[in-house]
Amino acid sequence: MIQLYQPLNFMGMVYREIKQAVIDIEQMFRILKRETEVADAPGARPLAVKAGAIRFEDVRFAYEPSRPILEGLSFEVPAGKTVAIVGPSGAGKSTISRLLYRFYDVTGGRITIDGQDVRAVTQGSLRSAIGMVPQDTVLFNDTIRYNIRYGRWEATDAEVEEAARLAQIDGFIRMAPKGYETEVGERGLKLSGGEKQRVAIARTILKGPPILLLDEATSALDSHTEKEIQDALQQVSKNRTTLVIAHRLSTIVGADEIIVLDKGRIVERGTHAALLEAGGLYASMWNRQREADEAREKLAQVDEPA
Ligand code: ATP
Repeated sequence: MIQLYQPLNFMGMVYREIKQAVIDIEQMFRILKRETEVADAPGARPLAVKAGAIRFEDVRFAYEPSRPILEGLSFEVPAGKTVAIVGPSGAGKSTISRLLYRFYDVTGGRITIDGQDVRAVTQGSLRSAIGMVPQDTVLFNDTIRYNIRYGRWEATDAEVEEAARLAQIDGFIRMAPKGYETEVGERGLKLSGGEKQRVAIARTILKGPPILLLDEATSALDSHTEKEIQDALQQVSKNRTTLVIAHRLSTIVGADEIIVLDKGRIVERGTHAALLEAGGLYASMWNRQREADEAREKLAQVDEPA
């Protein structure tokens, strides 16, 4: 029996490794596909981050020449501050994050970090200065520890666990069958959207970049999960220049500035209080979201057994 078991065990291991390799290759192709959109300029220099201030200067962009998406966007994220971009679906919010990370080049104007045009610096240095928490985090079919350590391979176990604690996911991990050694993915523990996002936040905390780019998931979360994510984001954005692409307005109430985008143009800007006071697009989005949240919470209460 043992003789039979050993080869089977070995085959299982080989299968796991191949599967992991396939996922890595898929990930690589996805990155390579994007990589072809832009290239390092001849003589590109590494980005030198001093304070980490971001500026969009009259930025124009179109995926297809006939359909402009951003039409002359100017704003600044001062070093260490948080600016949130909100607006109706299709307004061009995620496009802004793709341009900052340089998946695409602007078609007009420029984007600078500490005065350096992102097109003039090497992509490697640009991307290592920016911590990106994407809408959909890819998790590897490996342990939770591996998935967090992906942020910085040299991190110690204690650093991985500290990052998870700050990202408000440590408690959840410790309750899993094998704690940090629990496998996640198809055949392992399945994580919800909110849990995956907190794993991504933990990775970013480990990476420790000077600039943060948060692209919130569109899916509605229950108020408890939302609070946990909000706390995690506050931890990670402390003293870092942060650009948040926000879908849930409640997560950006404390932002230094909120920019309201509609059809590729800035239509309002200000703090949460000032925008509510103004009674414009932001205020109506806020009221609509509040009503939707209240209705959802009521439904959840009805569903709960007495
Ligand atoms: P949402 O809130 O729904 O995520 P958004 O404000 O983030 O929307 P973007 O994802 O920036 O909007 O998209 C802006 C517009 O650009 C949309 O009309 C979208 O259809 C279009 N678009 C996005 N990606 C591409 C692409 N790769 N090629 C062509 N058009 C695209």
